[in-house]
Amino acid sequence: MKDENCIFCKILAGDIPSYKVYEDDEFTVILDAGPATRGHALIIPKDHYKNLYELPEELAAKAFVLGKKMITALTKALGCDGYNLVQNNGAVAGQTVEHFHLHLIPRYEGDDAGFGWHMGSLDAEDAQAILEQIKGAI
Ligand code: AMP
Ligand code: ZN
Repeated sequence: MKDENCIFCKILAGDIPSYKVYEDDEFTVILDAGPATRGHALIIPKDHYKNLYELPEELAAKAFVLGKKMITALTKALGCDGYNLVQNNGAVAGQTVEHFHLHLIPRYEGDDAGFGWHMGSLDAEDAQAILEQIKGAI
């Protein structure tokens, strides 16, 4: 399952070069071309799914298990101090490539990767409203 307009499908087909870290039957892991930190990599399923909404549950589970395996090995290999696993869905969430991928971002003491969010606050009234709003959805 490929999308001819998808840059990751082109990478997986070998039509666009990439730096391959790992490969198995279902996933390829490559270095991100615009790394947040040294060693930033992407877990990409070989089949084209637009995002986590579309990814089959079995592949979603396998992607996270592979993430664990990768960061365990790469933490030792790169000598990093921690890892962020980031996964964006939708342009508003920062997704720029519409082929599911899981970012593996090594973190180093003192690095300036600096992504995150400004912490808001949760008041009891809104918490109740949220619970009411999502009741029955899960
Ligand atoms: P996202 O913003 O979550 O969709 O992430 C897309 C990621 O793909 C970005 O971090 C880009 O740097 C990365 N990227 C885009 N094109 C390439 C490419 N040709 N090779 C490797 N990484 C890429
Ligand atoms: Zn694709």
